[in-house]
Amino acid sequence: ELDFEVYHTRRVRSIAPNRALRVAVLSRENNYSTNRLVEEGEKRGHSVEVIDTTRCYMAINAMAPDVYYDGKRLPRYDAVIPRIGTSITPYGTAVVRQFESIGTYVVNGSAGITSSRDKLHAHQLLARHRIGMPPTAFANSPKDTSNLIGLVGTAPLIVKLLESTQGKGVVLAETKKAAESVIDAFRGLKANFLVQDFIKEAAGEDIRCLVVNGKVVASMKRTGSEGDFRSNLHRGGTAQKVRITKEERDTAVRAARVFGLGFAGVDILRSHSGPKVLEVNSSPGLEGIELASEKNIAGLLYDAIEEKVRPTPVPRRKK
Ligand code: ADP
Repeated sequence: ELDFEVYHTRRVRSIAPNRALRVAVLSRENNYSTNRLVEEGEKRGHSVEVIDTTRCYMAINAMAPDVYYDGKRLPRYDAVIPRIGTSITPYGTAVVRQFESIGTYVVNGSAGITSSRDKLHAHQLLARHRIGMPPTAFANSPKDTSNLIGLVGTAPLIVKLLESTQGKGVVLAETKKAAESVIDAFRGLKANFLVQDFIKEAAGEDIRCLVVNGKVVASMKRTGSEGDFRSNLHRGGTAQKVRITKEERDTAVRAARVFGLGFAGVDILRSHSGPKVLEVNSSPGLEGIELASEKNIAGLLYDAIEEKVRPTPVPRRKK
């Protein structure tokens, strides 16, 4: 069993209440989310540094597992917010792991980032924890494509590249024949894929729930552009505020907990048989959700960080 939560909380160093925090945002990008994390942290009097993950280097030894940057050892941060891009997951998570070795509080742990990024591993973990998801099958090279399809159900089916991001490698096959030819084409290209039941009633919409330290703090409904079954905002989808059910809320919280993520975007499809989790994102974008929910998500994340690293003062009892 992966027990992220224990690993996580045990290592948090607590610091004096009201002391300003020293925070690092691990990001290579100067985008809306990074800017908001800096702006919001500084507004609270914290010092926030943006560290380019790929420029970090490390001495891996037992005595001083430090992280270096631009010729200097990085300071002991009170908290690290990893924003690891999908193109640098292995190196980025190694940097996060190094901070974990030092005992720095990281909002999202390396193990959770890695496993949530790996579509096969992520689906296996969700299934093991009995979290609803579309019936899914995968294979490396079975001779019988038709049997693989049979494991999932009947057409229409979704065939998804494991490396897909932003909906780029997600294909809807309307018939069994179409599914077979897509699968054969992917096989020919030596691409790894999974096959999934198409949740038709989701009708090109999904729900993004933002989970901060075990609570859904905001949610939005994303609708794909006309005629597209994919609701990715990168593909021209639109987002709006949505009220979610208790079941959806619980599902999102449990899905984030499976990966031990303190800050996660959980994507859910609304199906006739309840919420189905598609993906848990360890670097959820802030722009769409702040706009749609009209909430200060960066601020809510700092609330959670402050709560984790600063002990709540215990009121003294007067005699
Ligand atoms: P990516 O990681 O590339 O964004 P997703 O698995 O999130 O891939 O799929 C992209 C979009 O396609 C989803 O947001 C959803 O709208 C749609 N989609 C994905 N899988 C299914 C499915 N099994 N049934 C219905 N729609 C789906």
